Amino acid sequence: MYNQPTMEAQHPHRSTGIVFVISGPSGSGKGSVVRPAMEADSRLGYSVSATTRPPREGDVHGRDYWFVSTEEFEAMVAAGEMLEHAYYAGHRYGTPKKPVEAAVAEGRDILLEIEIQGARQIRAALPEAVLILLLPPGARELSQRLRSRGTDSEAAIMEREAAYASELAAWPLYDYLVINDDLDRAIEQFRSVIDAERSRVSRLDIQAFLDQNYRGV
Ligand code: 5GP
Repeated sequence: MYNQPTMEAQHPHRSTGIVFVISGPSGSGKGSVVRPAMEADSRLGYSVSATTRPPREGDVHGRDYWFVSTEEFEAMVAAGEMLEHAYYAGHRYGTPKKPVEAAVAEGRDILLEIEIQGARQIRAALPEAVLILLLPPGARELSQRLRSRGTDSEAAIMEREAAYASELAAWPLYDYLVINDDLDRAIEQFRSVIDAERSRVSRLDIQAFLDQNYRGV
């Protein structure tokens, strides 16, 4: 398991949080990469999506998703409470706007684990967002992983496989590609992207840093 020390408060001179998006076809291993990376990084929050999909075994309401009815979902969309939303494999998924806006305003970074239609909407709404695409090394690994999860019906698996071609075709939308071949390496790459984006001069208040730490020079 990857357990490098966290880089707490390395960039104190930043007032705006960064929105990170990770997408990958079903079976790409998003959860396996994101979970340990988040555990090692207390400065990265997670955007809990709303969905009309029924909970899988082990899913926790409010942690993995907000599990809502179609009526509740539609009411949230109508009230303008969704930052983005999409229909995927027979169910609706959406990102509640408020927690993301609050994180950005308070300087906290936040991760959205969403599919490509949502990623496209985020790119349009928040051009500064960082979009990361996660792919297994090849089609065979992808199908194997999807099936080995053992939590989906055959019909659900086939619906997810049917989305592969359009998901792969969306690659030009993304800023970074992480290949999930070796899990530890994929986690490290994902964390490197986050660190690099946090180091961008354009995101930092360098003048405040100099005023505070280089006074008199
Ligand atoms: P699952 O049902 O396997 O949890 O998720 C199915 C797909 O929906 C995944 O690709 C996941 O990343 C995506 N997804 C989860 N939450 C959201 C969301 O809020 N918006 C969008 N557009 N996609 C989401």
